[in-house]
Amino acid sequence: MTQASHRQRVVVVGAGFGGLFAIKALRKAPVDITLINGTAYHLFQPLLYQVATGILSEGEVAPPIREVLRRQQNVDVRLGWVQDVDVENKVVSVAGPGIEYTVEYDTLIVAAGASQSYFGNDKFADHAPGMKSIDDALELRARIFGAFEVADLQTDPEAAQRWLTFVVVGAGPTGTELAGQIAELAHRNLPGQYRHIDPRKARIILVDAIGAVLNTFGDQLSAGAQRELEKLGVEVKLNTKVVGVDSTGIEVEDADGRHRIPSVTKVWAAGVAAPPLAAKLAEATGAKTDRAGRVFVEKDTTLPGHPEIFVLGDMMNLAGDDGKPLPGVAQVAIQSGRHAADQIKRRLGGKETGQPFKYFDKGSLATISRFSAVASIGKVHLSGFPAWVVWVAVHLFYLVGFKNRVTAVLHWAVSFIGRGRSERVATQQQAFARRAIREYGDPFARERAESGDLPAPTQAAAPEREPLSVRE
Ligand SMILES: Cc1cc2nc3c(=O)[nH]c(=O)nc-3n(C[C@H](O)[C@H](O)[C@H](O)COP(=O)(O)OP(=O)(O)OC[C@H]3O[C@@H](n4cnc5c(N)ncnc54)[C@H](O)[C@@H]3O)c2cc1C
Repeated sequence: MTQASHRQRVVVVGAGFGGLFAIKALRKAPVDITLINGTAYHLFQPLLYQVATGILSEGEVAPPIREVLRRQQNVDVRLGWVQDVDVENKVVSVAGPGIEYTVEYDTLIVAAGASQSYFGNDKFADHAPGMKSIDDALELRARIFGAFEVADLQTDPEAAQRWLTFVVVGAGPTGTELAGQIAELAHRNLPGQYRHIDPRKARIILVDAIGAVLNTFGDQLSAGAQRELEKLGVEVKLNTKVVGVDSTGIEVEDADGRHRIPSVTKVWAAGVAAPPLAAKLAEATGAKTDRAGRVFVEKDTTLPGHPEIFVLGDMMNLAGDDGKPLPGVAQVAIQSGRHAADQIKRRLGGKETGQPFKYFDKGSLATISRFSAVASIGKVHLSGFPAWVVWVAVHLFYLVGFKNRVTAVLHWAVSFIGRGRSERVATQQQAFARRAIREYGDPFARERAESGDLPAPTQAAAPEREPLSVRE
């Protein structure tokens, strides 16, 4: 889209928390916004683990962007992955499904989030999916519920136990929540439904290289969370490093040496890395990146020497008041999105800009199981049921869409008051498509190749963009 416009053209890359809240804050501004996102939906990542464990449907955590922004007339929503930014000519190039296009900007907001990091061991991903996208959550759902089904068919008790052993790598909020939910499935929801196995015999193992569960919550809450997990039947293995992952197990190293844990279902909830776009942007502007690939931004979240480019949320590295980089959490993304919008409005109004972004830490929350959570809000530390009530209220407040809030409450009632898991369906495609797509290549590129437009995609010549359904 290259037509001239008299109004400021603001291009927003990413419809996550950062991008969406920036756009909403610009709803009355005299700007033409183009939002480019790799998927057609906004993803509420904090509840992905509930999609993976059969509590919520994918639609409840991923409303269509067009529906969310339907009343905001100054936004044009475009599907595609931004591949590159020409900072001299102020143009972004985008790979959409089967079509490539460019969009010009006067101001660019980049909030493309973070992807999973396997710390250089990307092959682990085949056997231990991460938890970053709807694809990940649905694949995990297929693997988790599928494991109980396959275990029920085994005649060899050792094989059955291998299927009934779940290893979650990473004891941060995502790993803790997932381990807690798998334990609830095994001990509370599924018993009585199988005739050849007892789901209560499932082992749920939570592994982390560091020495604490939820280590950012402080010693007291961290120790409480570990106790709570252990009460649920989760085996917590700390100071334990994962050194290998394959289809039937996981190799770990701890103070006693190296061990193998036979397990078919592994989940990777450790480590994040900025998406490839961060490196491209840094290269184009001379900005620096940190070890995770996040871009160092100026205090106002713009790039050095480029006041027209904002980098927000999980993609940015900006020191907080304590000198440490701001954490990759929703509130940082939301508030930095609003800050960028405010800067744009000030600029339009001829006011001084460059005000530093001030992050207001509203606290941290993590659930462990039904009715049990931990909350650290300033000096107030809560655990158990009171923290869980806060967790429910906060998640309902930020979940996008009234309809989604209502259905989420109904599903929580089914799962937490009752014993049901209403979203257990998983198709073969969800279980196996990741590898198939990787081997097949980008379906659109292949179609074009078959029609003679392009050379056939191969592993070596695969487009830089991963297939649409693999990356979020
Ligand atoms: C499983 C999980 C649980 C979490 N739980 C919590 C929690 O409980 N509390 C909390 O505060 N935080 C939590 N977080 C972190 C929080 O979700 C993130 O900090 C927040 O989403 C970051 O917002 P963002 O806008 O920077 O990026 P995102 O929300 O990740 O959005 C990035 C968007 O950019 C799009 N995109 C990426 N690359 C491109 C490209 N090249 N072109 C076009 N579009 C692109 C993606 O499709 C996506 O829509 C969790 C994260 C995960 C993964």
